[in-house]
Amino acid sequence: MSKLLEGLNPEQLKAVTHKSQNPLLIIAGAGTGKTTVITRRIAYLIEQNLAQPDEILALTFTEKAAGEMEERVDQLAPLGMTDFWISTFHSFCQRILERHGLDIGLSHNFKLLDDIKQWILIHKNFEQFQLDYYKPLGSPNRFISALLDHFSKCKDELISPKEYLNYAESLNQKITKSKNPDEDQITEAQRITEIAKAYQTYQQLLLDNEYLDFADLINYCIDLFSRRPNILKQYQKQFKYILVDEFQDTNYAQYELIKLLAGNSINKKTKGNSNSSISAQKNQKKSTKPLNSLVVVGDDDQSIYKFRGASVSNILKLKEEFTKVTQITLIQNYRSSQEVLDLAYNFIQANNPDRLETKLGINKRLIANLNETQGEVKVLEANDLSGELTMVTKKILELKKSHKEASWNDFAILIRANSAAEEMIPKLDAANIPYTFVAHRGLFKKPMISNLINYLQLLDQYHESQALYQVLNFKHFAIEPEQIAVLSHYAKKKTLSLYQALLNADQIPDLTKSTQTQLNKIDQLIQLHSQQKNQKTAVEMFIAIINDLGIIEELKVDTIEAAENRELVDQFFKKIEKFEEDSPSDKSLNAFMQHLNLEIIAGNSGEIKFDPNIGPESLKLMTIHSAKGLEFKYTFMINMVDQRFPTRAKSDPISIPEPLIKDILPEGNAHLQEERRLFYVALTRAKTNLYLSWSKDYGGSRPKKPSLFLDETKLVPSEKVNTATGKVVFTTPTVKKENQKTKKQIYKNIPSVFSFSSISAFRTCPLSYKYEHYLKLPLPGAPSLSFGVSIHNTFQKFAQSFLDTPDLLPDFQVLQDIYETEFIDEWYNDKQEKTKYYQEGIKMLKTVYDDFTINKPQIKYIEQKFSLKLKDYTITGRIDRVDNDQNQNLIVVDYKTGKSKKTKNKQDVDQLKLYQWALSELAEHPVSQMYYWYLLDNQKQEEKIASPEQIEQLQLSILETIDEIVECIKYDLFEEKHQKLGQHFCRYQMV
Ligand code: ATP
Ligand code: MG
Repeated sequence: MSKLLEGLNPEQLKAVTHKSQNPLLIIAGAGTGKTTVITRRIAYLIEQNLAQPDEILALTFTEKAAGEMEERVDQLAPLGMTDFWISTFHSFCQRILERHGLDIGLSHNFKLLDDIKQWILIHKNFEQFQLDYYKPLGSPNRFISALLDHFSKCKDELISPKEYLNYAESLNQKITKSKNPDEDQITEAQRITEIAKAYQTYQQLLLDNEYLDFADLINYCIDLFSRRPNILKQYQKQFKYILVDEFQDTNYAQYELIKLLAGNSINKKTKGNSNSSISAQKNQKKSTKPLNSLVVVGDDDQSIYKFRGASVSNILKLKEEFTKVTQITLIQNYRSSQEVLDLAYNFIQANNPDRLETKLGINKRLIANLNETQGEVKVLEANDLSGELTMVTKKILELKKSHKEASWNDFAILIRANSAAEEMIPKLDAANIPYTFVAHRGLFKKPMISNLINYLQLLDQYHESQALYQVLNFKHFAIEPEQIAVLSHYAKKKTLSLYQALLNADQIPDLTKSTQTQLNKIDQLIQLHSQQKNQKTAVEMFIAIINDLGIIEELKVDTIEAAENRELVDQFFKKIEKFEEDSPSDKSLNAFMQHLNLEIIAGNSGEIKFDPNIGPESLKLMTIHSAKGLEFKYTFMINMVDQRFPTRAKSDPISIPEPLIKDILPEGNAHLQEERRLFYVALTRAKTNLYLSWSKDYGGSRPKKPSLFLDETKLVPSEKVNTATGKVVFTTPTVKKENQKTKKQIYKNIPSVFSFSSISAFRTCPLSYKYEHYLKLPLPGAPSLSFGVSIHNTFQKFAQSFLDTPDLLPDFQVLQDIYETEFIDEWYNDKQEKTKYYQEGIKMLKTVYDDFTINKPQIKYIEQKFSLKLKDYTITGRIDRVDNDQNQNLIVVDYKTGKSKKTKNKQDVDQLKLYQWALSELAEHPVSQMYYWYLLDNQKQEEKIASPEQIEQLQLSILETIDEIVECIKYDLFEEKHQKLGQHFCRYQMV
């Protein structure tokens, strides 16, 4: 038996090895191994040679889930290269549209708009939306979000502007026909017409600007497959196996897409879609394709993202629209204790009869497979909010103390809304519990980032006293708060701006000498940066600023706080980089700040990406939504009171007209049901210990009642839910502020993935490994680096443009045009230097182009990524180019943009050997030739093909380097190592 099938229970086994062409539907509760089934099945199909990696399409709902799925498959599948189609629906569609957008008239250069950019687009073009009914009385800002939300929901339901307009038209016709239409009818028809037109205007704006929003990705993909059956057929043929995880959360449009790809031959007309321009159904009618193997897994009780709570809609549709669906239920749970499972199961029954268990007559009662019998489910009840939260921290400390094996990562506090964290955080700080607040928003409000934004704003407006005040408080300047108070007092007295006061610092007698020096320094920095910002790009400015302000030094420290700040600075930095990418005509700091200000007005507080698997060991404080799919030994839920959870129902500001809705909506109260599912998700995160806390007094005028869910779980007697007593069960402890060291805990994160470039960085300069690859600090670039990336990207784009038609080499001008757009004009010291590099680049293009013309290479891979297993590590890298020779053997080419060298160093030798090893894992044919191509002097330096022994030696030497890196991380040896090597080829000075 295949190793991949080991340990599976009989139902899982059936699912993983499912052979028939009938679609397989797996409905099962939380933690029953649904994702396990999907990932094992992928690995199994490859192992058994039933499919090549690129013949399997695995889709899921969130980036996080897709990442996790890919990681799990990566661990199971013994392959060197990653050629999988494992992604979210959105990324999948983006990939398809980048290839085939032109086939339906979309620019292949389309830009993707996130919700903030959508908002800005409407904001800038607001006059084009002729609103009367929805005319805003004040600022249009709130309307914009409501409109966008509405359009996005329409797209999820596959309602096109045309269909919306037709519906409006039908209402108008009814009125015309009616002898005496009533007032309400007329207003309603006008309202619908207005929205339909606004929707059309928005869609046109996107097209005119070559923009797509997220929902468009799915809809245009459906459009492409419907209008170009030849392209659909190509993908139907390619994806012999389609797997969908978290199926309960897929929206109507995504479901239609799955049906198209699976080659569904059955068609049922869905209500309200008769006028749709997106003719998915029409197309299926013609389809006679046999079904591809389709496996979908999901849990209706965990559906928390669906429009109006239509949690069972797609699952029921699937059963109805496909014939012979094989159905499997998994009931063995591998995560939680029986006590937790029973609690969750009994609770969710309240959603009947809208649940699948009732509708399909299946059994979803879960059986615990956990040997662990210890654990508890408990309600923590206190007198007031402060007491409640203190009780929670006390319990956490108690558990940590009595369970020696427990790590902080085993603890989570789940909240219904982000705002609850504000009350929890001070308590965790006071108790010295290391925690990570997993907020997905709020980057701009984090102290480190908000300080930086303040400083950037200050450069434009010196006299903005508020911003300067924040800057004076930077830790790095070490100015005493009393001294800042002296300065503000002086400014007030003399009616000066704070900046003017700062300029007079030398004459303020109450300021100490050292403060005066610091203030002068700050003034010089502001002057310097204001000057520089007119010549440099936003990225260059940002890096200069974090260096000059000494922030980079703060980030180099090995504490949890510094690790968190590094992550935040990195994310903000990426934002600036992204901005430059999207705004090639104006990359200035001013332009970035204008953009940022608009984002802030749009209500964006800054997205924060969070990966729970990396980062310091800490308790996680997060919303239930972000906890989906995660598991914790000790799970706490706070604020279990009426109105906080379940929340009060909020209706959409603009709702979709019923006749246009294609989803099957629940009969019961959709909002309450959704809140129940959310609570079910929260309960089922707990492995053994679950604590629900509440209190009577939240500071309002009336006492709070316990949550309805505490009643429905029977954890608090019903009478109490109606008459809160607020009886104190535990005495509220006072938490001592003893060990302040916790926040400063040392942070070490041993990586398991090493890129080839990180390994060679370490070998030449351990400090550059530390800063660039371990700490990932945003550091200054170099002309040669900008140039190297420009050239590589140019060749990649160019080669890709004729990969499918190798005999049709485009004109040299095409290559030059690509170079023009790909040229990164950053980090050059002056214009002259930039021009020199640019011209050299043109020569390089010519060299390669001539070679293309004469030798007509058969390119097989371009910028091919690989990942290789080496002991417990993964080695990743990217090969510039691989060609086929006449015998289909492989020729490896590595472009070098520097001058050729007489003596090669070890890295150079190893690089091609590593590529040879990578190709031996994936490609069927061996490498016959490999060389470095020094483009500047057009020298090709061939490297000998390595023998198996030499490859083995290479592996050993890589492992040796990794061991050294790990040593350096564990014992802080980077600086020492760096000194030993000598600094002659190092970009970094010693700290
Ligand atoms: P969710 O409902 O949260 O999406 P799921 O049904 O997708 O959960 P998985 O994440 O696949 O469940 O599995 C939950 C846990 O159970 C994982 O830690 C997984 O490794 C473990 N598990 C799954 N199947 C088995 C098995 N047959 N034997 C042992 N452990 C298993
Ligand atoms: Mg799962």
